[in-house]
Amino acid sequence: MHFENTLKFARSLDAADALAKYRDEFHFPQVNGRQVIYFTGNSLGLQPKRTHDYIDEVMADWADLAVEGHFHAKRPWWDYHERLAAPMAKIVGAKTEEVCAMNTLTVNLHLLMVTFYRPTDKRYKIICEEKAFPSDQYMLQSQVRHHGLDPDDAIVEVRKRKGEHHWRTEDVLRAIEETGDQLALVLIGGVNYYNGQVFDMPAITKAGREVGAQVGWDLAHAAGNIELRLHDWDVDFAAWCSYKYMNSGPGNASGIFVHERHLNKKGINRFEGWWGTQKETRFLMKPEFEPPASADAWQLSNPPVLSLAPYLASLQMFDEVGMDALIEKRKSIVAYLEYILGEIDKETSGSFEIITPKDRGCQLSVFLHGQGKPLFDYLMEHGVIVDWREPNVIRLAPAPFYCSYEDMYRFGQILKQGIREQAKAR
Ligand SMILES: *Cc1c(COP(=O)(O)O)cnc(C)c1O
Repeated sequence: MHFENTLKFARSLDAADALAKYRDEFHFPQVNGRQVIYFTGNSLGLQPKRTHDYIDEVMADWADLAVEGHFHAKRPWWDYHERLAAPMAKIVGAKTEEVCAMNTLTVNLHLLMVTFYRPTDKRYKIICEEKAFPSDQYMLQSQVRHHGLDPDDAIVEVRKRKGEHHWRTEDVLRAIEETGDQLALVLIGGVNYYNGQVFDMPAITKAGREVGAQVGWDLAHAAGNIELRLHDWDVDFAAWCSYKYMNSGPGNASGIFVHERHLNKKGINRFEGWWGTQKETRFLMKPEFEPPASADAWQLSNPPVLSLAPYLASLQMFDEVGMDALIEKRKSIVAYLEYILGEIDKETSGSFEIITPKDRGCQLSVFLHGQGKPLFDYLMEHGVIVDWREPNVIRLAPAPFYCSYEDMYRFGQILKQGIREQAKAR
């Protein structure tokens, strides 16, 4: 595609952007009296303006109806979570009954491990990526110890090759093959939080299942970002959070996926609670647990309606726009950002490099040569919200819902100025 590093050109892309009108649907922080350029939608998405109405509705129903709200609220609370299933299923490529909004991400991964990590003497190993997101590492290690096993023996980390910034699919596939009938589980972050790499989920899932392992994905950085086909890829289970690309608010609820073939299975190992039993008979308060043939069977408690309300608001926006349109804009705005970075790099004679491979979603991770932290501080002071990862990486995620092409152009100008001022100061 032909790009130009000019304000006029950036504005022409915005003028042609069908999603441009959604920018006004979000609240932006201000720095120096101006809307920020927000690159951290991969960490905490901006607040949609309509979120307020969804929360206010619950607050009003609670005030007016109190306990009666469970059945008589505008959107009754006892099955509030069911409204999230269909739009969530579309985002992750699942059947409606395969997903459920509940708990938070790390909690859900633990609950899913109870079902999907059943080590035996022979088959007990887990494959994950080296330096997985810390919560995932702690989760895996503690699960392994819970079964009386040694994490150093049970957890097999797939490494990047020396001098490379990304994992090679062939290396993941080889690890799966080599671990073979000792392999109980593959659990990897579908989009890596650090370098922004998208793993080849269909190929890895297929390989894992072929050696008889379960395959799960942590989709924290994938849900609402890239195309997912969890059902068709035959993934066993997955979980994601909703506050990153899905704009549901800080620490908000997670979603889970459990493949159809595991639903309605007798004798499946699972931690259970009263919201996992069939809703028709739940209030008979019977001693027997009767799970529905859906991922709802993994629910424990009655749903946290005040946190599902903003999640529902956001899902309805995704439903309006559709992942196809979001992905199309995401590809184009990331391509424009990469082009801008290339231009600025030329003008500042090689100040940084992009370490994100071509298999990518919304995020570009940029390794800075030299300037580091002071440049990050400069960007923040000039209204560019990015994040910093040791040793010298900034992550840029131009979320297609609310970032504009003009943002990319303006960011380039601020970056160039920042690099020049740092050079002068040295
Ligand atoms: C963001 C993120 C988490 C966060 O977990 P919470 O339980 O929501 O705090 C976990 N894993 C990965 C890969 C993440 O990117």
